[in-house]
Amino acid sequence: ERGRLSRLRHKPAVTLDGERVELLANIEMPEDTVGAVKAGAVGVGLFRSEFLFMGREAQRLTRLPDEEEQYLAYRRAVEGMQGMPVTIRTIDVGADKPLDGKAVREDYLNPALGLRAIRWSLADPAMFLTQLRAILRAAAHGEIHLLIPMLAHASEIRQTLALIDEARAQLDRRGVVHGRVKLGAMIEIPAAALTLKTFLRHFDFLSIGTNDLIQYTLAIDRADEAVAHLYDPAHPAVLRLVADTIAECRRQGKGVSVCGEMAGDVAFTRLLLGLGLRSFSMHPSQILAVKQEVLRADAAKLVPWAQSVLEADDPAALLNAPR
Ligand code: PEP
Ligand code: MG
Repeated sequence: ERGRLSRLRHKPAVTLDGERVELLANIEMPEDTVGAVKAGAVGVGLFRSEFLFMGREAQRLTRLPDEEEQYLAYRRAVEGMQGMPVTIRTIDVGADKPLDGKAVREDYLNPALGLRAIRWSLADPAMFLTQLRAILRAAAHGEIHLLIPMLAHASEIRQTLALIDEARAQLDRRGVVHGRVKLGAMIEIPAAALTLKTFLRHFDFLSIGTNDLIQYTLAIDRADEAVAHLYDPAHPAVLRLVADTIAECRRQGKGVSVCGEMAGDVAFTRLLLGLGLRSFSMHPSQILAVKQEVLRADAAKLVPWAQSVLEADDPAALLNAPR
């Protein structure tokens, strides 16, 4: 199967009825771009930049990566993708994803609801500005899309955009070269999915993080084995939020992708195509299998079927039904 799939590597992902689909890679370190290119990814849809900040004690690095170290890492990712776009998500640590060298509170009752991702960044503007400057500098070397995790409030959007402007101004004052970036927000909190107009007023594109969207919609800790059986990507409420986000972006002509596990799960490929999704970002190992689904799909025929899946009490049964 692997050997047969590998013949699809250089084949464009186009449905039977001619719809082009973008298959992107999720990466954790700049060197992962090698595997992404090999797998036939047409860009990076999610560079989880927090991995540059984690596990450093094991490497005997005593400090967090400074601007220069981050700039070189982001630049390496951009160069590794050989002209294809790279979406860099700003740091998503805190709570359950601890940073070495920085005390992480151990008394959280609900770490997933705590100081995580953009909340952490806004609580430490100096650290966030350092990361933003490094990303803007790397953007002088290729196409970078800047992606912000875990936004929910208009006030957070405003603060984030102000800090991005401030990072640019700091570079200008230093006379340092930097590039333009497209700005995107992750939709991974139900509150964000329910206030899309606010997000679309301020961002060029949205990326749906289904891993957290499922966790926060269903109130299921994604890391808790005891409730893992209730972690249901096909819950009608989850599918509704995903469907509405895709539809609203398409109405407004804004880019939208899915970068959570759902994007790399072949059981969901036809549904997402039927809901209008044309950009999927996943672990490189999934790209060929998802491409095979795309090549076999008739996107127009999937539209009414996808609507019927949305209306079902038990969408999983329809997704798993024989074709
Ligand atoms: C997600 O939440 O779906 C996502 C892509 O981000 P992460 O898994 O890194 O939280
Ligand atoms: Mg997430």
